[in-house]
Amino acid sequence: MKLLEERIQKDGIVRAGNVLKVDSFINHQMDIQLFSEMAKEWKRLFAGKNITKILTIEASGIGIAAVTAMEFGVPVVFAKKSQSINLDFDNYTTKIESFTHKRIYDVIVSKKFLSAEDHILIIDDFLANGCALEGLLHIVEEAGATVEGIGIAIEKGFQVGGEKIRERGIQLESLAIVESMDDETGEITFR
Ligand code: 5GP
Repeated sequence: MKLLEERIQKDGIVRAGNVLKVDSFINHQMDIQLFSEMAKEWKRLFAGKNITKILTIEASGIGIAAVTAMEFGVPVVFAKKSQSINLDFDNYTTKIESFTHKRIYDVIVSKKFLSAEDHILIIDDFLANGCALEGLLHIVEEAGATVEGIGIAIEKGFQVGGEKIRERGIQLESLAIVESMDDETGEITFR
């Protein structure tokens, strides 16, 4: 998506350790106009799919997922990161290793908000090694719901996540795929 690629070129900052900072328009300050254009693009890409619910993970996926849910006219559920392992039978649970914080979180979704009748579109801001998505897919599987697709704002194509997800035969639509980025020159190229 040209608009998003141009914005990443203009305002994205490449940090050591393969981290792309997009704090000025996605991860801290949020450009809702941009999110709205992204949502319209996913609506086009997933046209014809019967989506009943959007699923994301806190915190950084929530803004994008909320605007996307508005476009699809469905509710959005976010998986919660829980500090203490609370073995509550009313929750679906999984473990996710955070790429940015390098720690493992227990993640939960209440059984009240996800059921076998649901057709899910998963939305997140970044795809790196795919741990966050694997966790969300596990939760959907536990619920017996159907994954209709995954929408990602920025995929880092040089990390393994995208390949792993596509190998599973899931429709994955990343609006910008970074081919390479250099923390010394700041150069970013797209696929
Ligand atoms: P994964 O689980 O695919 O390795 O990483 C995805 C999660 O880590 C995303 O939900 C996102 O919050 C975070 N993340 C991964 N890479 C980056 C990055 O380069 N920049 C930012 N801001 N977040 C990232």
